[in-house]
Amino acid sequence: MRDVTAVSLGDNSVYLVTLDGARVLIDTGPDFRGAAAAIEEVLGRRLPDVVVATHGHLDHAGLGAWWQARGVPVAMHRLDWPLATGEEPSAEEFAALERFVQDCGAPADVALEALAGIEARRRWSAEARSGDYGPAGRDRRWPTGLRYVPFTPSRGLEAAVVPGLELIHLPGHTPGNAVAWVQSEGWLFSGDQLLPGLTPTPALQGHHGAGGPDWRLRSLPLFLDGLRRIRELAPVRCFPGHGEPFGDVTAVVDTNLAQTKQRAERALDILRAAGPCTVYQLAEALYPRAVRRRFWQIVATVQGLLDLLEARGQAVNDGVRWEAAQAASASRS
Ligand SMILES: [Zn+2]
Repeated sequence: MRDVTAVSLGDNSVYLVTLDGARVLIDTGPDFRGAAAAIEEVLGRRLPDVVVATHGHLDHAGLGAWWQARGVPVAMHRLDWPLATGEEPSAEEFAALERFVQDCGAPADVALEALAGIEARRRWSAEARSGDYGPAGRDRRWPTGLRYVPFTPSRGLEAAVVPGLELIHLPGHTPGNAVAWVQSEGWLFSGDQLLPGLTPTPALQGHHGAGGPDWRLRSLPLFLDGLRRIRELAPVRCFPGHGEPFGDVTAVVDTNLAQTKQRAERALDILRAAGPCTVYQLAEALYPRAVRRRFWQIVATVQGLLDLLEARGQAVNDGVRWEAAQAASASRS
């Protein structure tokens, strides 16, 4: 017998998948006050055989330590283990983000606010690792703040063998991001790779363990490769890490791909028309009203588009300014 039980935990959805007797939980669940009790109530006394975390973000892996304390192994791709153990985000990554803000071309007041945002993230990250639940965020995605008790996952994905369930590494959202695939049923458990109703934007993030000038993971080109891979699988039903399961999966993938393609074309048009731009100048041209209010989201989006144009050979940069590739070669000749 094969079936899926969805458990709604604040803004997150986790899924108990039963495959011919094996019970696999996809994502650990987020650790807000009452989350563990809510899972127990739905799942009853029979524990899953293994819990698979699609990636190391706290809302997908936050209850990893709790599962392990109950004797349930937690599997996660090894590239995301530093997020679970608490080694990441590291002091070097926060320092690299600060340098990014200083070099992105933002006006002084915007940069100052963005730096304060990094400081707040550093504080939240430390608070989540230790002690009690903080207050709910303004967006009320979960009833309290989230904790992330550090843990070392029990195994990598390659060892999380459940017959009939394939774990596919699709880096981009994080370095070790993965989806779970039940080919016999056409079921995709997408974590944050594919969500209903929105095109997720990978955040600015480091390669785990990488420092120096090349600290950044080029998230968006990888993320789009992941969407194309999902398209090839042609799932019948998608069980996302947030929101309700949905069908017509290829249509949602195509909407995401088309939206990114359109954004990248607009970015390239602006670069061609305006000449060399900083990331912030391009962000202002693309999203004039939003960039001050939602600095991180917009700047991460725009940096992602630039990474994509660079990967395609359509844009080049000197470390601070970006320009269209043809304009760059013309101005040098
Ligand atoms: Zn995530």
